[in-house]
Parts: sequence; C-alpha cells; structure tokens
Amino acid sequence: MLAQAALPLGVRCTVLDPIVPCSAAAIAEQIVAPYTDPAALRALSEQSDCITFEFENIDTASIQKHSNDTPLHPPISAIAITQDRAQEKSLFKKLAIPTPTFKLIDGSASDAELQLRLALEELGAPLVVKTCRFGYDGKGQERITTPDEIPTAVIRLGPVPWIAEQFVKFQRELSVIAVRSAAGELRTYPLIENQHRAGILRVSRAPAPNLSPYLQARADEIASLIATELHYVGCLAVELFESEGALIGNEIAPRVHNSGHWTIEGAVTSQFENHIRAVCGLPLGSTAVRGHAGMVNVIGVEPEQSELLAIQGAHLHRYEKAPRPGRKIGHVTVVETSPEARDKQIVELQKRIIQG
Ligand code: AMP
Repeated sequence: MLAQAALPLGVRCTVLDPIVPCSAAAIAEQIVAPYTDPAALRALSEQSDCITFEFENIDTASIQKHSNDTPLHPPISAIAITQDRAQEKSLFKKLAIPTPTFKLIDGSASDAELQLRLALEELGAPLVVKTCRFGYDGKGQERITTPDEIPTAVIRLGPVPWIAEQFVKFQRELSVIAVRSAAGELRTYPLIENQHRAGILRVSRAPAPNLSPYLQARADEIASLIATELHYVGCLAVELFESEGALIGNEIAPRVHNSGHWTIEGAVTSQFENHIRAVCGLPLGSTAVRGHAGMVNVIGVEPEQSELLAIQGAHLHRYEKAPRPGRKIGHVTVVETSPEARDKQIVELQKRIIQG
C-alpha cells in the first residue's frame, strides 16, 4: 500500500523481503533476501534515496551497519524504542502519558515464576503479561487471573524479558495516527475506534463514534509529544485505551498502521501517501476525512470476492498473502455520510467475511 501510494508521486519503491513474491511485487522491485543480509542491505541503500520500514521487528543493528549514508526514516532510534515494551513504557512515563502500572520481569531468571506471583499480588488480577520484544496481534501475551495459571504462562512466554501490566478496564480501544515531516510539521487523523478479538484487530471506525473535542485534542497532544521526542519522520500510530474519559497509552507503532487503512478512501490523503511524502521531504497532505469510514479486516480465510464487491461502496484490498488462521490477508473499507449508514455497511461486510 506504501508502494501503491508512491507510484502516482513518481516515487519508485524497492522492497527487501525474504518471501517470494512479496505483496508489493506487482508494483515494486523486490530484493529477495533475509532482512539482515549485508549484501542485500547494501544493494537496497545503493538503489535508494531513503529507506523506510513497513514493520518494526527488524534488526536495527544490521540496517544501521549496512545502509551506508542513505537516510533512514523514521530514525532507527525511534524503531529501537518501540521494539521494546519496557523502553516504550519508560517513554510514556517520561512524557507524563498515563500507561498501565507495570513491573519488568526477567523471564530467564530462576525465580521468574515467583516474580510473576508477586506481580499478581502487587498489581492485582487480572494481569496482562507480555514479552518485551517481538509480540504482535496478541502473540507473546498471557492473561493471568489466578496463581495456578502462572506455570503455563511462564512456559508459553519463554525465557525472555517480560512486562507484567495491570489490566485496564477500558470502555474502548482507540488509536491516533500522526504524520510528521523532517521540518517538524505534524498532522493527525481523527481518533479511530478499534475492535479486537483474540488480540487481533477486527474492525475500525473513523472518526471514532461519540468523539469529544477534548478526547481528540488530548490524542493529538499525545501523538505530538511522542513524535517530537523521537525526532520522528513519517507516520506513527499510538494505541490507546479510553477509560473513564481519559486516554491511557498502550503501544506505539512506528509505521503506517492497520487501524489507518481506511484513510485510503476515507481521508483526503491516505496514511500511506503521507508517509511517502514525509520520508521523501514532500509537503504533507490534508488529513481531513471524506465521511464516516469503516474497515473490516479479512483474516485467515479468503472471502467470496464477488459477494463483497456486490456491496455498493465496498473497497476490497487483497494482500496476495497465503491464508492461514489469524493472518491478516486483506481488508475492506466503506465510507458513508453518517455513522449509522457506516455501521449498517459494517454489518453487511461482517456477514460475508469469516474472520478465521
Ligand atoms: P498489545 O499487543 O499490547 O497491543 O495488546 C493486544 C491487545 O490486548 C490490546 O489491543 C488489548 O485488547 C489487550 N490488552 C493489552 N494490554 C492490556 C492491558 N494492560 N489491559 C487490558 N487489555 C490489554
């Protein structure tokens, strides 16, 4: 989707991806190699005016070492912080952004199980325990309600650093997407309401229903604090919980975000185009919305395409990824003139999309 947005701007993308063919292969040149391959990284940097990222679980040291002097946007330091939940939480604290109370635990220590028991006592049940690194879509995450669940959780999480968080009784999950230019100009999209199941995003609505000006202003402030602190260039997303009228920081994604896929049809400039504009030093585009957007993820099972396209106003995006349970393989967006019409369209889409 980044490469698609780049094309009309005259920006050509070369993609480093070990999987053949990658989703972008139809419109981008692909270098097929592991993400850490020195020769591939050198080739990528030689071919490119700048390098950007589409997901954060990358080896920052390899890229820094082999990218020569090709500019990296967003900065590698921002990626490094957001790769590690412990550093991310410290950033929230430093910027006075509320975040769930947490304890760090070394899962490889001989008393890791005991530490988890103490965390459960101290922070209260339920406890959300996450691996500090490489977690996504609910992977590397365990919810613990009673002490007898601890031994299984320890095995499932593995001997790595963990973060044990207090469970937030949130009213809903929201996200804010911001784009920042190298000159420090920052724009945000309206807050997005996100529905997850089993840790995987299922549906997004934007602007979030019943959005108060206060909530949007606070989200804008949070995004601005983070992006400025990180000297960020490009799009980033902040995942938030809304609890009793306040916003609580959960996670930062240093990239275009699934909850912003609706911006392709639902905003004047999509998150993808704005990311390309930012990293290429072009002026940022308007983040205003074109209506009330809904996005339903296609997960695990290819839907009947003609049934989906028969819904007037449904925009299907297939990623050309092999279906497997829990894998996001596409999404569908609708943009309507009212929240009610949008929600009716979401119901129609959900009848036709099995999220496996
Ligand atoms: P994460 O990988 O941190 O985005 O977590 C995945 C999902 O787990 C979130 O979207 C929430 O639904 C849930 N979750 C994560 N952390 C907490 C928490 N501290 N309290 C309640 N729910 C949480």
